[in-house]
Amino acid sequence: MTTSEPLSAVSRTAISVARVRALESERPDGLFHDPYAAAFVAASGYPTGGQPGPFALKLAHHTVLRTRFYDDSLLAAVAAGCRQVVLPAAGLDTRAYRLDWPSGVRLYELDLPPVLDFKSRVLDGLDARPRCIRTALPVDLLDADWPDRLIEAGFDPGERTAWLVEGLLMYLSAEQAATLLRTVGQLSMSGSWLTLERGRNPSVAAGDPSVDHITSLWRGGLGPALGDWLGRHGWQVETHLIPALSARYNRPGAGPTQGGFHTATYAGAP
Ligand code: SAM
Repeated sequence: MTTSEPLSAVSRTAISVARVRALESERPDGLFHDPYAAAFVAASGYPTGGQPGPFALKLAHHTVLRTRFYDDSLLAAVAAGCRQVVLPAAGLDTRAYRLDWPSGVRLYELDLPPVLDFKSRVLDGLDARPRCIRTALPVDLLDADWPDRLIEAGFDPGERTAWLVEGLLMYLSAEQAATLLRTVGQLSMSGSWLTLERGRNPSVAAGDPSVDHITSLWRGGLGPALGDWLGRHGWQVETHLIPALSARYNRPGAGPTQGGFHTATYAGAP
């Protein structure tokens, strides 16, 4: 399916993430190198944004650490034998193209059709080649049919999966986030991995108009209760806080934050 539809407001947040990744990729001490991020930003034609406020700086730091931490988490999952990776709300994520995957890894990118169409136009223009078996699946994750579509595309629920839910749950209501994560559990063989942001209260962004275009879309997902929710739904959860990751990656932060990430392994339906 192709479409030239403009990106919706929530899909344009993927451009904001790409902008942070493009800037990080210019640094000699970058925590990752995304050679495609700048091309997405340029092709989008969106304004480059003004002076970042205090929360914008925290968000950028969070995004940089999260990109590297999630790179490491996915590579750890495939090193442990996982050959199936699913990225719900993949946006302009280019891990399929830039990480060193073992042979046989199947990676599924799910997002709304205009995003995946825009992404393939830019990547095709650069003659980019995935380094794994990549499938881009245009779906609305709020529709009930995405699991069937994923299975039709070759996903095997009888095999362990590494799920990466990056930059999505905050844009969903609590009910939508719970439905999505329940479905992820239903599609997960025990021993599957899940990586995602620690839930936060959307009020953390209050008072920084420079990121209103992003934070005004936040609905909170499961909020700070996310880790407990996962624990009650069959996941063994670990929490990784920003200060510890800042130290691990030698990248000082932009002030105090409650932010962080969860990694979880599926123990089976409770
Ligand atoms: N995971 C990517 C990353 O970190 O670069 C993109 C994150 S971006 C902040 C949010 C993404 O969620 C956008 O690409 C948007 O299109 C996608 N998204 C939001 N609601 C969605 C839905 N109902 N179905 C599919 N994708 C959705």
